[in-house]
Amino acid sequence: MALAAARARVLRALSRPPPPGRVPVAARRCCSDAGSPAALPPGGYGVWQERAARDPAGFWAEVARGALRWDSPFHTACQAGPAAGATRWFLGGRLNVSVNCLDQHVEKSPNRVALIWERDEPGTAVHVTYRLCGHMTTLLLCRRELLDQTCRLANTLKKYGIQKGDKVAIYMSVSPLSVAAMLACARIGAIHTVVFPGFSAESLAGRIMDSGCKAVITYNQGVRGGRIIELKTTVDEAVKNCPSIKHVFVAQRTDNKVWMGDRDVPLEEEMAKAASVCTPESMDSEDMLFMLYTSGSTGKPKGIVHTQAGYLLYAALTHKYVFDYQQGDVFGCVADIGWITGHSYVVYGPLCNGATSVLFESTPVYPDPGRYWEVVQRLKINQFYGAPTAIRLLLNYGEEWVKKYDRSSLKTLGSVGEPINHEAWQWFYHVVGEGRCTLVDTWWQTETGGICIAPRPSEEKAEIIPAMAMRPFFGIVPVLMDENGKVIEGNDVSGALCIAQPWPGMARTIYGDHQRFVDAYFKAYPGYYFTGDGAYRTKQGYYQITGRMDDVINISGHRLGTAEIEDAMADHPEVPETAVIGYPHKIKGEGAFAFIVLKEQTAHIDRVKEELKTIVASKIAKYAVPDHILLFSLTLGALMNSRLCFKLAHLSAAPFCVFGESAQSCPLAGPQDPSASSPHSAWRQWPHHFFEGLCLSHMLGKWTPRPRLQNTTGVGKGGSLNLEQPKTSSVDWSSSQNLQVVKRLPKTRSGKIMRRLLRKVVTEQSSNMGDVTTLDDPSVVKEILDAYQKYKEKSSS
Ligand code: AMP
Repeated sequence: MALAAARARVLRALSRPPPPGRVPVAARRCCSDAGSPAALPPGGYGVWQERAARDPAGFWAEVARGALRWDSPFHTACQAGPAAGATRWFLGGRLNVSVNCLDQHVEKSPNRVALIWERDEPGTAVHVTYRLCGHMTTLLLCRRELLDQTCRLANTLKKYGIQKGDKVAIYMSVSPLSVAAMLACARIGAIHTVVFPGFSAESLAGRIMDSGCKAVITYNQGVRGGRIIELKTTVDEAVKNCPSIKHVFVAQRTDNKVWMGDRDVPLEEEMAKAASVCTPESMDSEDMLFMLYTSGSTGKPKGIVHTQAGYLLYAALTHKYVFDYQQGDVFGCVADIGWITGHSYVVYGPLCNGATSVLFESTPVYPDPGRYWEVVQRLKINQFYGAPTAIRLLLNYGEEWVKKYDRSSLKTLGSVGEPINHEAWQWFYHVVGEGRCTLVDTWWQTETGGICIAPRPSEEKAEIIPAMAMRPFFGIVPVLMDENGKVIEGNDVSGALCIAQPWPGMARTIYGDHQRFVDAYFKAYPGYYFTGDGAYRTKQGYYQITGRMDDVINISGHRLGTAEIEDAMADHPEVPETAVIGYPHKIKGEGAFAFIVLKEQTAHIDRVKEELKTIVASKIAKYAVPDHILLFSLTLGALMNSRLCFKLAHLSAAPFCVFGESAQSCPLAGPQDPSASSPHSAWRQWPHHFFEGLCLSHMLGKWTPRPRLQNTTGVGKGGSLNLEQPKTSSVDWSSSQNLQVVKRLPKTRSGKIMRRLLRKVVTEQSSNMGDVTTLDDPSVVKEILDAYQKYKEKSSS
């Protein structure tokens, strides 16, 4: 019943006329060129949307037949498994992903440019065609042909014993060779796991061990923002503890020599000797294509598994229709291949569609904040897909950096990975897109494989509401759930965002832990995929994502479990207790705020603080290092629930979290962020305190700041807490979203009730707190309220 109602809602939304008064958007064609993988039928978007919602198996079967090249056709498009999370797609079908991404285009258009590698060094772009190069004589030429390079790399892997089903880690900066590494794995049926090169040796080792990789492919060094990144050194460190690794393939990104040990293989040398033809392995639709690690609400990252046909089809179709990709366009997704965005919209989606895809190796501010737009002008990019964090960073530098460059090639702009705030949306739309480009806020996840909710595709000229993902893609049937697990009907409602019917791009499992997969995504709302996000359905029936409902934060579009940071810091011998929460950060979207309990005897809090930062950077990655670390001098062991108290502390601390936000810790800024001398440096004028010495009394409501502080900026001298509120506080007191972290208190009875109470506190409904008698200590409620009020007043004064 609920599914039928949800489908009906998707269909009803189709017949709605566009209301007047919205931001005008460029008209777009619904139908694509004939000959591309999947042209829309007569009738356009509405016909497909209706069909996909009503008959998903029939719809996807038809699209898959036209869009993919099969070795053997599938006999069953979709099979629901016996248990939750067991849906399988295109059963009986066999294909090879690299053939779909390369060979089929080489046959038709061998000289078409597949990749444009925008190297870190400005103005040194390398164009790489699809074709198989029959007259290749030098390594230099080899670099230019993607199929050739893929086959040579595949043959090299085979020579060193990598076979179908083996796992290969790829720890490389974005480049044609790293794309070839992914496709080479796909060609021989090996399973790749790409690890973002910003992750530490320990993170890399954890992923290698969890997935049981046999080999790593890396570069001697990476280059980003003008700085060298020691990739091979990090791999050396990681593989010390990884007995499964038999070989490390080392390519050369720079001319510098690195240490080469017994298991290290010089990749390009081997590729030069290898044959340039490699027979593709015929893979079952449901064989694993790759796994990609992402954060959950526990300390252990999960290896999300995607399979061959369903993933590829979904990535290709969304690439084509969300961005209105037309043959000949230059598609510029500036994500790193270490994230799902890079997998789906730098590599697999565009290449399956025979597109020209840009590989962006640099940062948005290197050598200056005009880099993106200079690249748009030089490469004539038609679709630009990037993260709101970068937009927020760049808008601080002023419009002149954008307007210097010709952006007339741009047709579609896309935002990915995190919520886009209104200011960033408007700047992106009006300044970058000159008010004439379609701007799509795309919502999706590592687990969904591709975009699920976005303003496009849609009926021609349909409205786009700023900063809203709006419309489900073909076959996506969103539903909202209430606290009791019931589907919420109607519009102008909020709830937990679920998807009511399977789609081909959805993840199949968590590697090595299918039960965790079922528990995380299918248990909370049986029969539905639970996204972990909340959403609001507007009066018109559009979807607005409201944020995570679990202990996962999103730093610069990178998902991170607060428990991961807590676990890392808990390794410090002088730290018995930790709690980390996310807080609104004007550039990064969210930042991490750590509450640390020190052993009573600890004397060197500065040292501990630095050590904690180092621990997080070395165990996870630099971007995970908290912006703020509050050190408490008392243990919380006596408290009813220490984690709860930390969360409560968050309520009070939130107004100050905007202090000291540092663009230095923004991963997009890169190592040579010139923002210190830019308008952006205004951000740094806010005092950067670490509120050390805050003393937690028996209950949170009694905690009082002790005026002994380290002041890292010299602002707010005199040893007193500077509680000024920045002019542009990113904390919105009227929004419970900013404080949603309180929703995930421990699931004890009192924790549950406390959660409800905290929501009332932060949404200003304290006059109606309801029954508090079941709390261990009901008086805590008053103390929380008092503390909240006190800090709210202080922050706004
Ligand atoms: P990841 O799997 O790392 O790409 O992270 C996915 C998460 O990022 C989602 O569950 C959301 O919380 C968040 N997210 C991604 N796109 C959007 C968007 N357009 N609006 C709001 N949140 C988003």
